[in-house]
Order: sequence, then C-alpha cells, then structure tokens
Amino acid sequence: MMKKILLGLLLLVVLAAAGAGVAWQLNGERWQQEYAAYRKTGAPVLMYHAVGNDEGADWPKTLIMKPELFEAHLRYLKEQGYTIVTVVELAERLQKGESVDKYVALSFDDGYKNNYSVVLPLLQKYDAKGSFFVINKDMGDETHMNEQEIKGLIDAGMELGSHTYSHGPLGKIPEKYLVWELDTSRYWLKKKFDGYIVRTLAYPNGSYNPTVIAAAKKYGFYRALTGHIGLNTAATYQAAPMEMYRVTVADDGNGLEGFKKRLEQAYFFGFLQTKGIDINVVRDIFVQ
Ligand SMILES: [Zn+2]
Repeated sequence: MMKKILLGLLLLVVLAAAGAGVAWQLNGERWQQEYAAYRKTGAPVLMYHAVGNDEGADWPKTLIMKPELFEAHLRYLKEQGYTIVTVVELAERLQKGESVDKYVALSFDDGYKNNYSVVLPLLQKYDAKGSFFVINKDMGDETHMNEQEIKGLIDAGMELGSHTYSHGPLGKIPEKYLVWELDTSRYWLKKKFDGYIVRTLAYPNGSYNPTVIAAAKKYGFYRALTGHIGLNTAATYQAAPMEMYRVTVADDGNGLEGFKKRLEQAYFFGFLQTKGIDINVVRDIFVQ
C-alpha cells in the first residue's frame, strides 16, 4: 500500500515537472515576444558614485569606478544607439507619454569631486548628460565638489539634484528632521546657485516610506529616485513619480560584460514586475 502511494506521488511529481516544463515553453515563447515589446516602453536610470583613480584604497569598490570603465559604458551606450539624458529630461518625456525607447538617464550620488573633474569631460566627449545629487553638508570638503565645481556642472547643462542635507536615511530618522533634510536642502541650493530650482531627490541608501514621500512633495520635489531595480515607463512614472527605479552600477570586476548585465536587469526585473514578481521585496527587508 505504502509503495503504491509513493509511486503515485512520484508520478505526480514527474507529471508536475513535465507540466511546468510545457508551461514554461509556452510562456517562454510568448514572454520573449512580450519582453521585446516591453523593452521599448521604458528607460533605465543608472546610479553611479565616484569615478576616478586617485581616491584612497580604503574606498569600497561599490563607490568608485575607474575612468576607463566608465568611458567604456558611455561608448557602449552610444554604440547601441542610446540617448543619454538627465533624470528631469527623462521624467518629462515619461510625463508627456513620449517615446523613451533607447533612452537612459545617468545619476551620480554624493557629489564627489571627480564628478566634475572626471565625469563631466567624459559626458561631454560622448554628447551625454547626467544628474548630480549633492549632500549640502559635505560640499567643498576634501572629497566633495565645491560651489564652483557644482556651478560648472549646471553651466554645462547638467541637472543638480538633492541627496538631502546630511545624507540622512529618510525612512529611519524622526519625522521632525525631514524639513531639514529636504526643505532646507532645496532652499540652500537655490540660494547658492542663483535661484536654481531643484526638483529631483535621490533617497540616501534608498530609504523612504509614505511619510517621506508626502514630505518631499510638500517641500517641492517633483520626483525621486529609489534603489529599486526596474524600468521607468510612462505607467510606472505617472503612477509613482516619487519612486523611480534605478540600477546600481558598480565595478564588479567583470568589465563591460558586468555593465551589460546590470543594464539588462533594469529591463528584465521591470518585465517581471508586470508579471507580479518583484525582486525588490527582498531588498526592502534589509533597507526600509
Ligand atoms: Zn549616497
């Protein structure tokens, strides 16, 4: 009797596996076509930090990238026919429902000095734009851009964004500090940079919650970048402009191949989200 049940179970397992295989095959073909169409509907936002050679050896690899590798990214994007824009330019296209096929936005967090000395000339060489998210409190110290350098970025047509006043993890700090981190940051940048209006926020460490979103909107931010992987489409942007998707780009030791993989993840994870599978749920357990 026991043997029969076991055999029955075994048969069920084999049938289920075969069934899953068939379903995968059927969906696989359909999904492949859907995926090709989906890729054209959105644009990734890439997240960089420092780009340079001369920073201390103690800098974590996730924070600093060699200029040669960064240039290889730009060359690859151009070869692939991408238009490289600021976050605000991308957001405006998404808002209007204009095509963002083969668009990509580059973002740089923390405002490192080499964003001006290394990144800007490379962006200009490849007819590319970028958005730079500065931390007010760090401006002008040894490793971060000073006023003149940030002004140079603005004059070159780059976007200046806020990365809060002191890099506070907004989803974790007491609510009373949000006015300082958000409102003061925007006001201060406006004062320093001839009335420049900052409209885009990058959440430090990708930390935010509904209270943070409400405060950021109240203090004049129109959109914000998270650390969630996905693709920014007209649908995702119009539904949640304060939760734009972003892909971390770091030197993973695999050169340009590593970059290609990260870029593809923006499209692929975005596609899976349309199927109800969200990889970011796992990330939130650790961050929020
Ligand atoms: Zn940061």
